Amino acid sequence: MQAEQLFTSPRQNPPWMRHAACQACDTSIFYPSSESESGPAVAICAECPVRALCLAEAVRRPELFGIWGGTTETERRIMRRNDRLRRAGLGDLAAWG
Ligand code: SF4
Repeated sequence: MQAEQLFTSPRQNPPWMRHAACQACDTSIFYPSSESESGPAVAICAECPVRALCLAEAVRRPELFGIWGGTTETERRIMRRNDRLRRAGLGDLAAWG
């Protein structure tokens, strides 16, 4: 289970992980060899009831790799950058990609 790989102790698992759609999935699909192969994992995330919480955790933790909350590492990196720009009052720059 992907979610369990993040936290080494069950006591550290946030309660939302009990509802993760990826619990019974093959973990390897969440760690594709390239982001262009992320489709199957992203499709599972799209149906996940805790997607927003998962994405928030993944955006907060840049050390995570793979597909989390329906996003790739690159997408989360852009989200963090855009958030930094908005906080700096430079939100218009986020539109430049
Ligand atoms: S959003 Fe995706 S990675 Fe996150 S818990 Fe749900 S299925 Fe797993």
